[in-house]
Amino acid sequence: MKLSFSGEDEQFREEVATWLQHNLCGEFESIRFRGGPGDEHMFVEERKAWERKLYEGGWTCIGWPKAYGGRGASIEQQVIFNEEYARAGGPGRMGHIGETLTGPTLIAFGTEAQKQRFLPGILRGEELWCQGYSEPSAGSDLANVKTRARFDEASAQWKISGQKVWTSLAHESHYCFVIARTDPDSVGHRGLGFFLVAMDQSGVDVRPIEQLTGTSEFNEVFFDEAVCGPDDIVGAPGDGWKVAMGLLGFERGVSTLGQQMLFQNEFDEVVRAAKANGAARDPAIRQRIADAHVGLRIMRANSMRMLSGGGEDGSLQKEAMIYKLYWATWHRNLGKLAMDVLGAEGEILEGAPYRLSRLQSMYLFTRSDTIYGGTNQIQRNIIAERALGMPREPRG
Ligand SMILES: Cc1cc2nc3c(=O)[nH]c(=O)nc-3n(C[C@H](O)[C@H](O)[C@H](O)COP(=O)(O)OP(=O)(O)OC[C@H]3O[C@@H](n4cnc5c(N)ncnc54)[C@H](O)[C@@H]3O)c2cc1C
Repeated sequence: MKLSFSGEDEQFREEVATWLQHNLCGEFESIRFRGGPGDEHMFVEERKAWERKLYEGGWTCIGWPKAYGGRGASIEQQVIFNEEYARAGGPGRMGHIGETLTGPTLIAFGTEAQKQRFLPGILRGEELWCQGYSEPSAGSDLANVKTRARFDEASAQWKISGQKVWTSLAHESHYCFVIARTDPDSVGHRGLGFFLVAMDQSGVDVRPIEQLTGTSEFNEVFFDEAVCGPDDIVGAPGDGWKVAMGLLGFERGVSTLGQQMLFQNEFDEVVRAAKANGAARDPAIRQRIADAHVGLRIMRANSMRMLSGGGEDGSLQKEAMIYKLYWATWHRNLGKLAMDVLGAEGEILEGAPYRLSRLQSMYLFTRSDTIYGGTNQIQRNIIAERALGMPREPRG
């Protein structure tokens, strides 16, 4: 197993760190360490400007092929970029859904015309995307989507009707990729389509969902005969499931590999708080801090193990399947530890909208880590069925 990065990769690390040092300052100083999980509603305009700055430096979409404006960076380099980004306090990315989900999906499954039309806007950090998968009765059981897409011969356009829910950053997005049923008589994963839908139109109604924090990161999105062009479907009508699953592979894979540095920052803050208020003298808290430290090292070792093997096509190996379950559970526990370190002080807030400290905000957001991107139970099913080859669970 590989235990460190190559000399060439370390040189790349130097390049990233130097660029961040020279650019994540001045007008961008205020957004360092901001806009991350639980803080997405903050500094939105500044973070949009930061996306454009990243583009000017050639630091958006680095994993995309050069032909589409990326750097063709290896998985190792993408991890290094994310590590250095977090270490420098790089703000929560506004363009991450387009960069890590839409882009790779279009590159893998889209037509050349779709790539030419949609990839440049993502690359430049100008066009933001959201993910229209979940519905009130389709979350873990995604194949149960009810949103319909009908091809209207008269206008030669697709017309989409239905409801999506938990749509992160829909209120800031220019486009949404939507899974909808192209065959009204179909059930399950057959008869679906994967659509690229513009948000700025009368058939799309975005309604924010207020969270525990008093803020709204995600939304309900209602489609009422929303239109998209005949060419704005990725793959053939009825083949949307294949595309949708390809995209989830990107969501659970490389895009989260570099986040340990972000976790390290949070962990360090918990330790600082424990030292400052004396909680670090409590043996039970010390034990949990040590466990959290061990968990971080395990995550690091597991990332290196994942980077050591994998398919020639750049796909990750089977061990990658434990990654989401491991980090989500670790992070949720860190949130609990932070609250126990803060003690009663962590539980007192004045009226909404609450002014949360970073640790309080982290605690609240970590409750969702074991839900989004596939719940812990679903991750266990994936490990059992796909990694261990156990019998599939009965499907209704
Ligand atoms: C912060 C956040 C952001 C999100 N952003 C987006 C977004 O941008 N776009 C989007 O489309 N969705 C988004 N989601 C939705 C997310 O994908 C779903 O919440 C998730 O897939 C779970 O679906 P559900 O909420 O309907 O829960 P359900 O699927 O109803 O699950 C309820 C419970 O039952 C368990 N369960 C369900 N099926 C099984 C099974 N087969 N075996 C064992 N246990 C099972 C689950 O693990 C869970 O504990 C977001 C969610 C969160 C929390």
